[in-house]
Amino acid sequence: MGEYAVEDMAEKPDEKHSTAKYRVLYDGQCEICQSCVAWLRTLDHENKTICLPISTEVLSMVDSRLRMDECLRQLHVLTPEDEIHVGWDAVASLARLFPSTWLIGVLGRRFPFRNAGRLLYGFVATNRYSLSKCRGGACRVAKPETVRRQARLGAFWSCYTMGFFIRLPLVLWAGIKAAIQRTSIFARTYHQRLDLLNGKLTILFLNGVLPNTVPLLFGELFTAIIYDGIAIDPGSPKMRRSLAQHLRRVKPKITKVVATHAHEEHVGNLNWLSEVSGAPIYVSEMTARFLTPFKKLPWVRATIIGQPPDLKQPFHLLGETIDGDSGRLEVIATPGHCDDHVVLYDPKEKVLLAGDAFMGSYFATPNPDVDSRKWLVSLERLMELDIEILVEGHGHIHTLRADVPDVPGVVIRENPKVGISQKLDYLRWLREQIEAGFQEQLPVRVIEASCFPWGRRTSWESCASDECIRLLSLGHFSRTELVRSFVRTNSDPLPTVYEIRLSGGE
Ligand SMILES: [Zn+2]
Repeated sequence: MGEYAVEDMAEKPDEKHSTAKYRVLYDGQCEICQSCVAWLRTLDHENKTICLPISTEVLSMVDSRLRMDECLRQLHVLTPEDEIHVGWDAVASLARLFPSTWLIGVLGRRFPFRNAGRLLYGFVATNRYSLSKCRGGACRVAKPETVRRQARLGAFWSCYTMGFFIRLPLVLWAGIKAAIQRTSIFARTYHQRLDLLNGKLTILFLNGVLPNTVPLLFGELFTAIIYDGIAIDPGSPKMRRSLAQHLRRVKPKITKVVATHAHEEHVGNLNWLSEVSGAPIYVSEMTARFLTPFKKLPWVRATIIGQPPDLKQPFHLLGETIDGDSGRLEVIATPGHCDDHVVLYDPKEKVLLAGDAFMGSYFATPNPDVDSRKWLVSLERLMELDIEILVEGHGHIHTLRADVPDVPGVVIRENPKVGISQKLDYLRWLREQIEAGFQEQLPVRVIEASCFPWGRRTSWESCASDECIRLLSLGHFSRTELVRSFVRTNSDPLPTVYEIRLSGGE
């Protein structure tokens, strides 16, 4: 895991103008050092500092006076004037750079604070390895044999928990910032409609009293998409009034009604929309099976999103293609998010209507029917397509194309293929983590923690939201499900060893 953990933080010493900055040399394998770097990054709005994980290469490049064992023992900071500050003095010199910590930095140079600071710093510096024996989640790059001998699970947890508590204010602040952002995107898209590509693509944002809690708490918007006459994923029964309002206003020409998969927020209005528009329904064979009858949802989901009715005849099964008004779309099976998932692809316009087959590059709280191994294969398949616009089923559009206007919170300016390949990298890394964890016979809770090393910014930034989702969905959507999503087999029951661990082997 070390590679990822450190890569997140590492900067290059030869970066342009780096000599005009304070260069901070830290131990990239120490949980405490990593936490402090996370703090530094948060305080340093003006990029006055550059953080460099210690390695022989980095030290020789930065300054020939630096010694490896000295740098590992305590913090070294090089000022733009090439002065070297060490230990507590280095902390104080950094503190003076930022308004909120300036006073600590100034007092920290004077008696008696300087002496107290040095004492405290010395204590933490000499004891940090006994506190964080697993070496901050970077275990696998440090000599794994030694680490395994040293790091009992108790040490792992003390280290992981400490990393969490040092970052707790940052975790909470990130949670608050994310909540504010979600609220503003929700308000901006409330009952809105987005017409793109000269009317070929319309996105209807769907709302409903209880469904609204989802975008507010989790950030997933609800949408129905109309592309070239094909209505895709028309929402749940509790969003029906919202959809009807849109239809009254827009009066779109709908020639087909399609579902990408059988999740409740996508399929609750299939028959209803087909009846009011006169357009036939198309679903995959597996989706049809899941919808007749629709299984009883857990009560939280049924209450918030709404239990969809069973799919009624008449409906058609999706083939390999489906005709829009002006061209033919490819229908591509993309299991992973769930087994029956399909996406629609317009090769002429290079548009991918991805449903839930993408869900952002980083997605840490999947639902219980996610199979991440299948998802990897599906994403590899999507990488073979030429995609310029990727439309997600929950209100995000990834594109660089200039004919799609900027819509904050909705349009994400990135090459869709870059997004997909980042997700692939992330899932591959997770697979490696989880496989290694099971091979080492670690308990599931430890494997889960090892998938979210604090050295990765996303681990603590999304921590508050992820745990909130776990709590409110009663564990249906959680980081634990992410681990489980890699050990799913074709027959639904979990492998025995996993079941034992889940049910108390911990
Ligand atoms: Zn879904």
